[in-house]
Amino acid sequence: MNTDVVIIGGGHNGLVCAFYLAQAGLKVTVLERRGIVGGAAVTEEFHPGFRNSVASYTVSLLNPKIIADLALHDHGLKIVERKLANFLPVNDREYLAVGGTGTKAEVAKFSNRDGETLDAYYTRIEALADVLRDLILVTPPNVMESGWFGAIPELFKSASIGKRMADLPMSTRRDLLAIFARSAGDYLDSWFESDPIKAVLGFDGIVGNYASPYMPGTAYVLLHHVFGEVNGKRGAWGHAIGGMGAITQAMAKAAREKGVDIRTDAAVREVAVKDGRAVAVVTDKGEKIEARVVASNLNPKLLYEKLVDAAHLPADFNERIKNYRCGSGTFRMNVALSELPKFSCLPTAGDHMTAGIIIAPSLRYMEQAYNDARSHGWSKEPIVEMLIPSTLDDSLAPKGKHVASLFCQHVAPELPNGRSWDDHREEVADLMIATVDKFAPGFKASVIGRQALTPLDLERTFGLVGGDIMHGALSLDQLFSARPVLGHGNYRAPIKGLYMCGSGTHPGGGVTGAPGHNAAREILKDLGKR
Ligand SMILES: Cc1cc2nc3c(=O)[nH]c(=O)nc-3n(C[C@H](O)[C@H](O)[C@H](O)COP(=O)(O)OP(=O)(O)OC[C@H]3O[C@@H](n4cnc5c(N)ncnc54)[C@H](O)[C@@H]3O)c2cc1C
Repeated sequence: MNTDVVIIGGGHNGLVCAFYLAQAGLKVTVLERRGIVGGAAVTEEFHPGFRNSVASYTVSLLNPKIIADLALHDHGLKIVERKLANFLPVNDREYLAVGGTGTKAEVAKFSNRDGETLDAYYTRIEALADVLRDLILVTPPNVMESGWFGAIPELFKSASIGKRMADLPMSTRRDLLAIFARSAGDYLDSWFESDPIKAVLGFDGIVGNYASPYMPGTAYVLLHHVFGEVNGKRGAWGHAIGGMGAITQAMAKAAREKGVDIRTDAAVREVAVKDGRAVAVVTDKGEKIEARVVASNLNPKLLYEKLVDAAHLPADFNERIKNYRCGSGTFRMNVALSELPKFSCLPTAGDHMTAGIIIAPSLRYMEQAYNDARSHGWSKEPIVEMLIPSTLDDSLAPKGKHVASLFCQHVAPELPNGRSWDDHREEVADLMIATVDKFAPGFKASVIGRQALTPLDLERTFGLVGGDIMHGALSLDQLFSARPVLGHGNYRAPIKGLYMCGSGTHPGGGVTGAPGHNAAREILKDLGKR
């Protein structure tokens, strides 16, 4: 036996899982395909002298327990809050600024009634976020096919979650039902009448979720984006100094300190199975590493369709994995800027330069973008969120210059009519820049370097199937006990000794660390360690 546990993939969840296992005294090896660890949470130079978080770009969901257990701050992580949460240019005269003390007055610019409603909305959504927070580090009860003996612990788990729900006030239970069943659009329409506030809040319902904001299920995705916090401030979003790579570098340091062997440029091509048990992995260089346990940080489709021989898996399971829905409709750009953008509606520099700048003035605009993408591959009026992290972090760009992340939603994961993203990358990148330029004239001229990642590029570079930033849609049929497949929502694969520790398990995508944390707990349980 070469090692106790081999982890396939050095994304943030693989690193977190490795840390906890090594802390419990196990010998752990992490094998990462790329030259650096971190998966979708990495900082790289994309233009000479300009660095940025290449994929994920803003932090909130990272679990406080995990930050503390791994002592990430002691390992160099510093997270700062945005000075303003969101800025939404409406046209060349009007905007909505959300997050400062003046938020109510800002919303009241468009509707007095909405300004008055805002506090009640936040109170109610916060109560729902609390329910989710309680479940983040919980292993979902598993739906068992085995007899009553195996089912008992799962029943207890269900009972304790059921009790938590039963303790909620009736109004929260009703809200919870609405959030799971309804669309973000319908939910927000029931609260507000003006477009800008609905657009700012509803954007969370379609982030990494290829759907119209009026499609059922989007209200849950909205909730998924509000359970986080920054330095103890709930619901806030912030920036990791040095970019998202600072998080994963700190995680790697913490793991190495516990003795984890992290190897890069080490792609796994096969999970070896003997007598129904995962016994080793084989790298693309042909090295076989034997282990008592194999854990996968990969999108479940990658694991089961590429690395495991289908003959070792039940036919129904294979069918479910084939139909596991991936493809968040994401187009991601990093741009090097000679100067800060000047928005026609607010040309002066200010706190809004640190905000998540949302270019999508209404829910209808987002719906249209989705419909266009379904029929054509992208919309002439796409959704862009721009963040300029160099306004909070001078380590990313040369003095006086800036870097911006363009997080563009709703391009088709696969283009219609057999077209390839390789033939449309630059055209769509031009469109995204032109879209910002419409609201901030001169932006296009300020771009001195750029990196554009289509869904295909996200798959090739990071192993994100269909470019899916979450490792699979956060739809009801792919959540909690059903993530990735009902019967395997407890981090255990259908093969003994094989576990899943990536975002394709509960609680899903985002830089949370939770899947890695929870999977480690289950592995330790099975190995008889606490
Ligand atoms: C464009 C984009 C924007 C996002 N924005 C945000 C954001 O702002 N905030 C946020 O919280 N979340 C964001 N997310 C989501 C978040 O980044 C991901 O959900 C999360 O990082 C996934 O972490 P993971 O550890 O589960 O998997 P991954 O990060 O995908 O890690 C899996 C690792 O496995 C490696 N691998 C793949 N195949 C093999 C193999 N055969 N052998 C060995 N290694 C292999 C990969 O290279 C990768 O390093 C974003 C994601 C993307 C793509």
